[in-house]
Amino acid sequence: MSNTPARSLSSAKTRQLADLVADMIASITRRDDADTAVRIKAELDAMELRIRQQAAALAHSQRIFDQSSAAARIGIWECSLPDETLRWTDVVYDIFDLPRGSPLDRNQILSLYSAESAQELHRRRSRAVEEHSGFTMDAEIITAKGNRRWMRITATVECTDSRPVRIFGMKQDITEQKILLDQTRYLAEYDPMTGLANRSQFQAKLADMCKRHDEETGAGALLLIDLDGFKKVNDTLGHAVGDDCLKEVAQRLANACRAAEIVARIGGDEFAVLIRPQQGMDAAENLARIIVTGLSQPIDHDGRTLRLGASVGIALIETNLPSEVFKRADTALYAAKTAGRNRFQLFEPPRDVNA
Ligand code: GH3
Ligand code: MG
Repeated sequence: MSNTPARSLSSAKTRQLADLVADMIASITRRDDADTAVRIKAELDAMELRIRQQAAALAHSQRIFDQSSAAARIGIWECSLPDETLRWTDVVYDIFDLPRGSPLDRNQILSLYSAESAQELHRRRSRAVEEHSGFTMDAEIITAKGNRRWMRITATVECTDSRPVRIFGMKQDITEQKILLDQTRYLAEYDPMTGLANRSQFQAKLADMCKRHDEETGAGALLLIDLDGFKKVNDTLGHAVGDDCLKEVAQRLANACRAAEIVARIGGDEFAVLIRPQQGMDAAENLARIIVTGLSQPIDHDGRTLRLGASVGIALIETNLPSEVFKRADTALYAAKTAGRNRFQLFEPPRDVNA
């Protein structure tokens, strides 16, 4: 095919047009690229801002967690199974008085537990791993610096494909709560001045012995002891000397009644002793004799010799009613007082005048 002028013109125009289109496309593409770049940058900026905000929120949460965890003395622990590699947060290191982040050897850590707590931990942990469950227990430790502490351990076993892979949980220092609880328990059951059982512990014991008396062979006994003329010590020498006398009396009673079920201070200068059924009437009378003799021995106090005495009322536990047993012993005590004090008296039922 020959190239006519008309045709040449037309193909030149076509070329021009094609170049123009190419220029236009290039220009549009350049503009698109720029728009895209602007858009991507904006998206990146927004994303960066979001990440920064999330990182700040995370750091804030971590700070709150760390502060709460430190304030509550709660740390997190985990142990991978079965290789027993331990990982702790800082608070757990603090509880054990170990440098934060130091290497952890499970056997070494276990040696810091009291023998009883270590046994209990082993028992509960083994069962939790076996049953894919968890546990909570209080454990006693002597820390690396020799401090005695109590901690509450919670544990959960994590499984993968029904195989235990990890055991983890919390450890909380509960030493202060434990001391407070022990003190509260002590005050609920003991007389803080003498260290003897208090009235409420005595009443519980008496009620228990009365409840069981049917099943026992022979009766137990209650001995009620009241000091003679104790008020005079307070009045002449002062309350503090009176207190010292009560402590000495408590000590002598405790020594004399080692085999008793309980020795209690149940009032100002009033004490009670419960003895086991097998010991019987003779044992009760023998003990009462020892008590009367023991408490009549002089007390040396700051170079002074003080003399006290005690009267004792005895009632056998022959009924299910604690109040009745107490009333009988009290009646016998009153009889010992009116008979001249410094003696013991066994409860005697009133004589039937018609018999
Ligand atoms: P009695 O021979 O009849 O038993 O008379 P008592 O002088 O021993 O006095 P009583 O048993 O009637 O009263 C006990 C006294 O013990 C009354 C109170 O002043 C005193 N007392 C009570 N509690 C305390 C205490 O905790 N410390 C001291 N020092 N005295 C107490
Ligand atoms: Mg008295």
